[in-house]
Amino acid sequence: MSDLESFRQEIRTWLEANCPAEMREPVRDEGDVCWGGRNFQFKNAAQKAWLEACVAKGYTVPDWPRAYGGAGMSPAEAKVWREECARIGARPPLSSFGIWMLGPALLKFGTEEQKVHYLGEIARGEIRWCQGYSEPGSGSDLVSLQTFGEDQGDHWVVNGQKIWTSYADKADWIFCLVRTDKANKYQGISFLLFDMTTPGVTTKPIKLISGNSPFCETFFDNVVVPKTQIVGDLNRGWDVAKYLLGHEREMISGAGGGDRLNAIGAIVARNGLEDPILRAELAMFDVDALAYGCMGEKFLDEAKVGKAHPAQPNMMKYAGTELNKRRHELLMSAGGATALEWDSERTSGGTPARSWLRTKANSIEGGTSEVMLNVIAKRILDLPGA
Ligand SMILES: Cc1cc2nc3c(=O)[nH]c(=O)nc-3n(C[C@H](O)[C@H](O)[C@H](O)COP(=O)(O)OP(=O)(O)OC[C@H]3O[C@@H](n4cnc5c(N)ncnc54)[C@H](O)[C@@H]3O)c2cc1C
Repeated sequence: MSDLESFRQEIRTWLEANCPAEMREPVRDEGDVCWGGRNFQFKNAAQKAWLEACVAKGYTVPDWPRAYGGAGMSPAEAKVWREECARIGARPPLSSFGIWMLGPALLKFGTEEQKVHYLGEIARGEIRWCQGYSEPGSGSDLVSLQTFGEDQGDHWVVNGQKIWTSYADKADWIFCLVRTDKANKYQGISFLLFDMTTPGVTTKPIKLISGNSPFCETFFDNVVVPKTQIVGDLNRGWDVAKYLLGHEREMISGAGGGDRLNAIGAIVARNGLEDPILRAELAMFDVDALAYGCMGEKFLDEAKVGKAHPAQPNMMKYAGTELNKRRHELLMSAGGATALEWDSERTSGGTPARSWLRTKANSIEGGTSEVMLNVIAKRILDLPGA
């Protein structure tokens, strides 16, 4: 038996013994998601037990080094882990902006002290993070951001406003882009971390068409941030920000797996689908989803040997999010009038319609499709004038 096969067997046995039956059910709503953090309320004992079992083995962040709370898995082993979890339909033990975004940036740019401290907290699900990038007027053109940190010797005093800060009202800490030099556009931004309970930080929810409200406006009024809480060099936060965005885009694209890769034709056809046009569209979707999965595999392999094109996350983000929107459009078409029901029992409280509406944000969050296409035109296709 190869090393990887015996590793697979080991993971399979461990999952059988440690993943509770309730955690092998699909995630139905926000309450099924384990976000961790200081104020997180577990939905049930199984959710807590599943998180604790994974934390003990480093499986919340399987490919991070053991010293920082991970399991030290190689990329190939991490893939086996994902495959074995998918095989039994295991829910992620922990969903976290810390894991998807801040963690990779800290691994690359953090000091040893920051890595041990913050990565450990993220891996154990102790601190919930939010992302303070966008501002009114600075979304796609993020580098125009105005939130300003005034140098006061051993700390900055931060003033300004962020917007679209997902879950800011539930987060414990924020990773935040702050201008620290007004004279330099790109090299005048720093990447700061601070506690959301720091005096002067306030949040205000914004409602969405899906009926949920993960969004907030976030205000900073003379917020004191110690100088030790900078990641990377002073005024070079743009490098950290861009690196983090690559990981955010990969995460949003669903490249690591997720339901958007699963064929939907067979599922829908099982319920009897007469419309030949819709049947053909479903078949085309399944072919494109398969092609997208193959593209993801190819990119992962290229990344493993250090040959990844820097704009790959932009391609994945564009293709993955457009595909996900198409998936939910098709599911709504196949579901007919029933799928539109908002509060009924047969749709589990409007799950299809709410999920469909949520996908509309996919091609905006983390950078819009238009901006992704601009990057692809410029950096991959080398088009004139792009
Ligand atoms: C669900 C969701 C969650 C989010 N969570 C967070 C979060 O937690 N933290 C955070 O900081 N931000 C968050 N955002 C904000 C997100 O990053 C921004 O919405 C996004 O970057 C777009 O910026 P904008 O909304 O200012 O749109 P704008 O930049 O104003 O764009 C408006 C339109 O103009 C187009 N456009 C702009 N520039 C160009 C160009 N050069 N060429 C062609 N077209 C262009 C855009 O594609 C878009 O269609 C979230 C957004 C969503 C939808």
